[in-house]
Amino acid sequence: MRSCDVIVIGSGIGGLTAAALLARYGKRVIVCESHTIPGGAAHSFRRRGFEFDSGPSFYCGLTSAESLNPVKQVFDVLGESLEAVPYDPFGHYHFPEASFGVYGNAERYRQEIAKITPQGAKEFKRFEERLLPLYDAMKGIPTLALRADWQVIPVLVGRYLPSLLKMLPHLLLVQASVGNVMDATVQDPWVRRLIDLECFLLSGLKAHGTIAPEVAFMLGERSHASVEYPVGGSGAIVKALVRGLERWGGQLLLGCHVEQILVNSGKVFGVQLTNGEILKAPIVISNASIWDTYTKLLHPDDLPPSYRKVALDTPVVDSFMHLHLGIRAEGLENLTGHHVVVHDASNDITVAGNTCMISIPSVWDATLAPEGHHVVHAYTLEPYAGWERNAEYEQKKREKAQTLYRALERIIPDIRERVVLELIGTPLTHAYYLRRYRGSYGPAIEARKGMFPGCHTPIRGLYRVGDSTMPGIGVPAVAASGILCANTLL
Ligand SMILES: Cc1cc2nc3c(=O)[nH]c(=O)nc-3n(C[C@H](O)[C@H](O)[C@H](O)COP(=O)(O)OP(=O)(O)OC[C@H]3O[C@@H](n4cnc5c(N)ncnc54)[C@H](O)[C@@H]3O)c2cc1C
Repeated sequence: MRSCDVIVIGSGIGGLTAAALLARYGKRVIVCESHTIPGGAAHSFRRRGFEFDSGPSFYCGLTSAESLNPVKQVFDVLGESLEAVPYDPFGHYHFPEASFGVYGNAERYRQEIAKITPQGAKEFKRFEERLLPLYDAMKGIPTLALRADWQVIPVLVGRYLPSLLKMLPHLLLVQASVGNVMDATVQDPWVRRLIDLECFLLSGLKAHGTIAPEVAFMLGERSHASVEYPVGGSGAIVKALVRGLERWGGQLLLGCHVEQILVNSGKVFGVQLTNGEILKAPIVISNASIWDTYTKLLHPDDLPPSYRKVALDTPVVDSFMHLHLGIRAEGLENLTGHHVVVHDASNDITVAGNTCMISIPSVWDATLAPEGHHVVHAYTLEPYAGWERNAEYEQKKREKAQTLYRALERIIPDIRERVVLELIGTPLTHAYYLRRYRGSYGPAIEARKGMFPGCHTPIRGLYRVGDSTMPGIGVPAVAASGILCANTLL
């Protein structure tokens, strides 16, 4: 029977961050990953010479010394780094009435908004000015210094008092909805929809559901630390974390599905794998979602019933339709890499299929596609309910992918004639490959209505990391959750 100090279930960015840091600080760590490729939502996969991102492709501050990105801070501790390509504009938003460039450079972005609504651009400036001081205050307190229990207080007071004092005037903003900031600063309906869209892309919720620090961080990072794409794709971030884990003696087991977290008298003592093997450790960290951890990995009796009920009642963001394409690239020399298409202005941006995200990362890193080709990932929200692998599945899948093709036609009108490789993913694909409950993007915890839970659980020795813990969804956020958990254990 193998044993170690810490078992991490899952190699998402949250799990890998916690595991690599704990290995770096001398713990014997084993990561059990169910899939044969590490990285969870952030993994890359290869088909016929095309390297696809399965999920994220938008990053800030992966390499800059100025960056607040927790991923960069973790790389520094592990002695790892990666190459990345900076770019600006970082995307184009295509509304039915107009397309425009979205720039990291704040002044340039406002100029683009002013072309559509001069008054709106002024109001957007007021919105930024209200949020950016919060980002400036955050700058002084590295995520690496934080932990998820009361012991954070002496650390902050002892080492970061000036930054804490800078934060004081903005304390009310820390848990506030950014919708309140929008209400106080922006009346222009076009800019209000723009802010709603930016929030939706970030958290899966519009402005009133998104917390202010999340948006402050996004606005600050994209203008100060630069928008960049990792050479080698999102998988390069995962590879760097795995290198860091292994360099410090940690172990990653792929194709290693955990069936059960083993608990005795309210205390964890290991995990049981699908092949029946038991791995023993006094600490287990689950990177599986809150719903997967509390239903599939624990026995119902392991948790107090009221706690379990509240946890499982956490609202869920929808899943996705994905379209991964390999396309011929001739004549597309001026193509840019990120696009968001809103099809119908009379429909809410959150309606499934109405807002489509597009990423063409081979414009930054040509090695991701065979010569003369581009690699494309388009996706949109899609409810999990109603999907079944029945006789109609293939037909439904093709029909649902049409909204993504129509979005792509806004950018590449003859896209359908260019396709050399097509992979369509449904909520069932997403749930299967990412081992995620209902293939969800994550918890839909609205600002003002609740908070993401911390890394602790009622079971001694059992902790959680990832996008159903504080601070929430997104690569920087889940890396932060890994840091908070690792620091809490040290
Ligand atoms: C389509 C899409 C686009 C996105 N775009 C961006 C973006 O541009 N920028 C950004 O910052 N964020 C983006 N995100 C969000 C970001 O990718 C996620 O929030 C983040 O990667 C989730 O990481 P995590 O640590 O929670 O773990 P996950 O990625 O959920 O990984 C959990 C891991 O645990 C494993 N696992 C689960 N159960 C078991 C078990 N029983 N045994 C063993 N292993 C198990 C799974 O296989 C998986 O590998 C995007 C997400 C999606 C889906």
